[in-house]
Amino acid sequence: MTAEILDGRAMSAEIKAELREEVRRFVERQGENGQVPGLVIVRVGGDAASGVYSKAILRVAEDVGVNARLEQLPANTSADELRALLVQLNNDQAVHGIIVQMPLPAHLSQKMVADTIAASKDIDGISARSAGNLFLGLPSFLPSTAAAVMEILERTHTPLEGRRVVVISRSNVVGKPLGMMLLQKNATVTICHSRTANLAALTRQADVLVAAAGRAQMVTADMVKAGAVVIDVGINALPAGGIVGDVDFEAVRAVAGAITPVPGGVGPLTNVVLLKQCVQAAQQLSQAYREQSNSLQESRYRTK
Ligand code: NAP
Repeated sequence: MTAEILDGRAMSAEIKAELREEVRRFVERQGENGQVPGLVIVRVGGDAASGVYSKAILRVAEDVGVNARLEQLPANTSADELRALLVQLNNDQAVHGIIVQMPLPAHLSQKMVADTIAASKDIDGISARSAGNLFLGLPSFLPSTAAAVMEILERTHTPLEGRRVVVISRSNVVGKPLGMMLLQKNATVTICHSRTANLAALTRQADVLVAAAGRAQMVTADMVKAGAVVIDVGINALPAGGIVGDVDFEAVRAVAGAITPVPGGVGPLTNVVLLKQCVQAAQQLSQAYREQSNSLQESRYRTK
């Protein structure tokens, strides 16, 4: 068997086209003085890799018509200064989505950031409120990488109900949220991690296998059931340059039914999913602002 290659770039182009249309309709609804969905990326210090990541998000934003900007702060920014900026962005009606680039310098806490960003603008689903809503099965913004995996499974009509899905990761950004999303689709989910005993015995039972350990080519052909759908989230830099995933692609594609490549699988979808959630935030917030101003007008009318 040679696996079908699940083309993340093609899916990303498809979602971007859908988003352009969503943004066009959003702007149309806003009327003449209306707004465009707005996104702010906050970066404190940061290395070359996080700079590349910010630029990639800005490029997708521009492509789909979202008004995005980077707030670059110096590495010695204090917690109070960062909190003050986030509060200002929370109160800015032209900003609908806020993301803060991780990792932060050691003196700044990720928890403070997650606790400060308004839940309505938390488009990468990092807050306890977003995580709690996901856990409870309520509508919420989702961590974009986990949501990108779901986007691939949904767009390829991969059956999940009653299927055995094994996820190699219990991280807050991939494994845990993905486990919750898969449960909502009635999959039978097994979450594996670095202390899992006999990993291969579990992965071999998977109808869908998601690898997100950050270990180059750790999933070998003998760990995969014939015909399984294999989603490779890993991005591992090679010493000689280039990247590989967590799956031994050439060997596993001979066994699997479908497989995502690295690069060109989950990666291209992550930023697009983030922008999709930014457009959703803009739609929800503009509706909330409209309702707020209507009820203000009503109460002014009643008090006259
Ligand atoms: P992380 O926080 O380090 O989590 C890795 C998870 O894998 C942990 O749960 C860890 O277990 C588990 N793990 C590590 N080695 C293992 C092993 N040998 N066997 C079984 N489980 C193992 O990493 P992350 O931030 O979630 O990222 C994971 C990978 O996804 C990285 O390669 C990253 O570059 C990539 N990534 C890709 C995208 C994208 O857009 N495609 C986005 C984000 C991340 P413990 O909990 O026991 O430590």
